[in-house]
Amino acid sequence: MDSFDQLRARLGDLADVKAASAVLSWDQETYMPSGAGAARAQQLATLGRLAHEMFVAEEFAAVLSAAAEEVAGSPPDSDEARIIRVITRDHEKATRIPAKLVADLAQATALAQQAWAEARPKSDFEGFRPHLERVLELTLAKAEALGYEESPYDALLDDYEPDMKASQVAEVFAALRTELVPIVQGIAAADMPDDACLRRHFDAAAQWEFGEAVIRDFGFDFERGRQDRSAHPFSTNFAVSDVRITTRVDENFLPTALFGTLHEAGHAMYEQGVDAALARTGLDNGTSLGIHESQSRLWENQVGRSRAFWEHYYPGLQRTFEGALGAVPLDEFYRAVNRVEPSLIRVEADEVTYNLHVMIRFELEMQLVTGSLAVADLPEAWNAAYERTLGLVPPNDAQGVLQDIHWSFGLFGYFPTYTLGNLIAAQLFEQVQSDLGDLDGQIRSGEFAPLREWLRDRIHCHGRKFTADELLERTTGGGLDAAPWLRYVREKFGGLYGF
Ligand code: ZN
Repeated sequence: MDSFDQLRARLGDLADVKAASAVLSWDQETYMPSGAGAARAQQLATLGRLAHEMFVAEEFAAVLSAAAEEVAGSPPDSDEARIIRVITRDHEKATRIPAKLVADLAQATALAQQAWAEARPKSDFEGFRPHLERVLELTLAKAEALGYEESPYDALLDDYEPDMKASQVAEVFAALRTELVPIVQGIAAADMPDDACLRRHFDAAAQWEFGEAVIRDFGFDFERGRQDRSAHPFSTNFAVSDVRITTRVDENFLPTALFGTLHEAGHAMYEQGVDAALARTGLDNGTSLGIHESQSRLWENQVGRSRAFWEHYYPGLQRTFEGALGAVPLDEFYRAVNRVEPSLIRVEADEVTYNLHVMIRFELEMQLVTGSLAVADLPEAWNAAYERTLGLVPPNDAQGVLQDIHWSFGLFGYFPTYTLGNLIAAQLFEQVQSDLGDLDGQIRSGEFAPLREWLRDRIHCHGRKFTADELLERTTGGGLDAAPWLRYVREKFGGLYGF
């Protein structure tokens, strides 16, 4: 067998172990009985260790370098050249972190997750503090092991947004913030739309059916995917031919399940759209969390919260929920699903104020990572940032610094990708609008194939072959840019709120 085929065989084995692990994780969040927790944790730890060992093994390194030599003459954008490039990069990163540090981090984050789950309902930051200190210490050790040029934050960000630098994020966020704060103030001063029509009773089964009908129209492939329930919505894939999404249903608040389904379907269609030639190579996935989130936000917000979308779907929604919505005019409903209000909780935030929640976390993380803020002073810094940015002070740490699970997992550098997703969604949407002509008209008539195929050809099919920057450059001719999102927000919410 040729060296490159040997590499593909090994990558295939690795992909299968990871897929098995993903199935177990998915099951843990959906159907697993509660008593199976300890056994499942052990199974996942074993599979995680096996995958790591297979990847950092000396034989793997030998096969990788032989394969690299064999295909050295391939065109730089070919699958072969890109597989070598991406896997070499992953491999170098994986081998830089000492096994002891991997084990220490796994243990510390497992304990921190438990401590966080106990501390949050009691609003007990002190109970969580020592765990967060330990996780931060180990995370910084990881950044040192991985190496960086400008800031340790770069090494952490790289896990979610390969090649992006903290300074780049800071620059884009600063530009965004300058323009966004007055917009939010303008909205806060205007008349708040009433969203009472969304807070009536909506039969759970009917909600489920409606959401699935919409994503079937979008192009989510139910032959190669399915939706189930979980406490926190997510999407995951076991193969290009098997991509799962989950949602949760609130019978007294319509947006939870519906927009959750549209959002996760956006993630899932990305992974269903990866070229089959990349299956089981480790490149059959999203290229970065920012690009991934751009796909979910685009379908959820640019499409799913647009007036054109509801002109198409609202009559059907009214028929489905005659009692709750029969007498509610389209305009009132459209305003309700686009209600903007500064709030304390990130996951409940609207699409305009959401980015401010992310910026607060990015600033605090930068300070923690560079040592200018101690964990002990984090609650105070958090509350001050909320007051300064959103004009609100959390009444307790449960609604403040303890609200997110991320830091207990050691996920420093993760938060910015949510805002990058919003910005990239707007960049792509502006481009597709100009490429397709009457996209609004297509959405109004429930025709989503042109949009989906545009995304498939330019983003989805490539999997991890190109970085986020490369995809943006190839698609829009430029780099990351906050301007299209600001234009989108001004046009849409300027109309809704009269500014
Ligand atoms: Zn998402």
